Order: sequence, then C-alpha cells, then structure tokens
Amino acid sequence: MDNSNDIQQKFLKLKDEFETYQNFAESTMQMINEKNTRLERNLDALTNIVEISKYINSNVSDENLIPMINDMIIGILGVTYSSIYLIDDKDKNLIAKATNIENDDFSFENYGIYCMVNNEEPFVVNCKDSIFSSGNKKVNIHSIIGVPIYSRDIFKGYIIVEHTLLNFFSQDHIAFISSITNQIGIALENNFLYSKVKESSITDPLLNIYNRKYFFDYLEEKVIKDPQGRFAIVMIDIDNFKRFNDAYGHQFGDKVLIETTKVLKDNIDDEEDLIARYGGEEIVIYINNVRSYSEVFKKVDNLREELFNHVVEHGNEKKSVTASFGISYYPENGDTVQKVLSVADSMLYVAKNSGRNKVISS
Ligand code: GH3
Ligand code: MG
Ligand code: MG
Repeated sequence: MDNSNDIQQKFLKLKDEFETYQNFAESTMQMINEKNTRLERNLDALTNIVEISKYINSNVSDENLIPMINDMIIGILGVTYSSIYLIDDKDKNLIAKATNIENDDFSFENYGIYCMVNNEEPFVVNCKDSIFSSGNKKVNIHSIIGVPIYSRDIFKGYIIVEHTLLNFFSQDHIAFISSITNQIGIALENNFLYSKVKESSITDPLLNIYNRKYFFDYLEEKVIKDPQGRFAIVMIDIDNFKRFNDAYGHQFGDKVLIETTKVLKDNIDDEEDLIARYGGEEIVIYINNVRSYSEVFKKVDNLREELFNHVVEHGNEKKSVTASFGISYYPENGDTVQKVLSVADSMLYVAKNSGRNKVISS
C-alpha cells in the first residue's frame, strides 16, 4: 500500500514536472516564433529599403520614383492612405507628388493639419472622432503619422500615412517611414546633382546658353524625327572682335560677348528658336518657324540692327559692336545638319567679305 502511494506521488511529481517543462517549452516556442516573425518583418522592411535604395541609385532621374515608393509604403504597411508631398521650388508650397487619395488636386490647406506640417517635425495624430470632417476621403481616418523629408538638412517635404483604425501606428511604422524619408532625401540630392551635371554638360559657362554639342544633337534629332520639317540656321560672328581684346583686354572682350549674346537672346522667340555658342565669338541660332525667306531675313536683320544700336560701356567710353550674319535653310541647302551649317558659314564669309555688319542669306 505504502509502495503504491509512493509510486502515485512520484507519478504526480513527474507529471507536474513534465507539465511545467511542457509549459516552459511551449512558451519558449511561442517566444521564438514571435521573435522569428519580428525578425522576418524586420528583414522584409530591410529588404524593401534596400530595394528602394537600389532603385534610387539606378533610376536617378526617373519621375516614377516617388509614386513607386508611395505604392511600396501602401503595400508594406497596409495603410489606408499614403501621400508624399514635396516642396515646390517656386512658391515653396507642399505639392502631392504621389497619393492614393482619390482627388488629384488635393492640397495641404484642405488637410486641416497644416499648422503641424508647417513645423517640419514628425507628428502623430490619433482621434476617436474622424480626423477629417470634410474632404475627399471615402472613409473615416482615426490615425495619422507624418515624417518630414530632409535633404542635406534642408526640409523638402513629408510622407503622411493614414489609417481608419485608432492608434494603428507603432514605433516600428515610424522607424520604417523614417528610413524611407532618408532614401527620398538621397534621391532628391542625386536628382539635383544629376540635373546640374546634365545642365553643365550642355551649357556654355561664360554665356549661359547651349553649347555646340547640344546644338548639333538637338538639330540632328529634329532632322531624324521630322525630315520634312523646315528650319533656318543663322551663323553669327562678331566683327573685329580681336580689336576689343587687344585694345581693352580679354575681360572687356568677355563683356562684349556676354552683352552680344543677351541682345540676340532677347530678340529671338524663346519658345521656338534656340541659341548656342558655336565657338569663340561665334554664335548660332536655330529658327524654327520658317514661313518665308523674307520674314526670316527681316528677323535676322532686326537682330543685326539691335546689336548695332547697343553700346557696351568701358569706363566712361561707349563702344558699339557689330556682327555679321549668314543664313541657310533645311532642307533647301542640304539634307544633313552639317551641310546646312556649312552653307550658313559660307554666307557668313560673304557677309564678312562684303564689309561686315551685314546679313547674307543663301
Ligand atoms: P572678324 O571680323 O573677321 O571676325 O574679325 P575678328 O577680330 O572677330 O576675328 P576672329 O573671329 O578670327 O577673332 C576671334 C577672336 O576671339 C580670337 C580669340 O582670341 C577671341 N576669343 C575667342 N573666345 C573668346 C572668349 O571667350 N573671350 C574673349 N575675350 N575672347 C575670345
Ligand atoms: Mg569675329
Ligand atoms: Mg570668329
């Protein structure tokens, strides 16, 4: 009897121990599972951030970049709305560059949280009542977070995500959105540098007009795209330019060149025509709208006259500058840009040889 009691007690003790162990094992398993899920989630987030940064680095000037990032945020976080706002360089307003809110012309003033956004700080809003009493949203929003975008410490915009559930957003969400804002900051900086490099590769640094290479590329593309299209080319060379350099120095020569360019630029059609520096003190103009030879001639002769009437000041002295002009036409003077240019050059040569300050047309 004693013996069986003993066994019974041992059994209960073992059972108890086993159950304790089992509970412990189960809770450990659960902890490991939770940890794994968290790790998986972090890994997912990290993978997404890496993907975004890879995309940013290989698609520097892609205008779909911001909408793509916004779609990614919606997909990953499962939020109701996500919007990326960037500061407009001109009027400094925040403009929605990507949003899944139905109305496209959605503006920040409608937002009702404009004052918060103006602080350029991260913010969290949770509200039992619907946060927006009016607006374009089909559902009631109860939580919002906003994280500012900075590029080189300069405020550039916001990512704002919204959810129908109260207290939906956690610290993890904020951390994720923050790393996305960092990536956008890098993208904006890359974009800025890219456009600077691109611009300087096609612009003449002294005269701030297009360079010869851009002029060629532009016309060649035009001829390929529209071989039947008609246009004129004007080659311009400042008369006796060397004398300005020799008599008053190179710096004054530069001033003559800059002012000549300005006179020409101010008197062509900004929308239609294109002006470029061809070489030293030679400038070339593409005239798009060719209705008649006489109209083009009049336009170019007007350029000549405007320049003739312009004076460049050197100390107390006033210097008058003239230039010679040669005009040629596509397709009349050749079926390639090179041929048409060389005819304009020959016409310029004729203008020089017949006394300068002249316009000669092919
Ligand atoms: P022409 O009427 O026959 O054209 O006489 P020109 O004296 O203008 O002769 P040319 O066109 O041969 O002279 C061009 C000079 O322009 C030579 C070069 O030293 C000068 N030049 C070229 N680029 C620049 C520049 O960026 N700045 C200055 N100051 N001078 C330049
Ligand atoms: Mg010259
Ligand atoms: Mg010259």
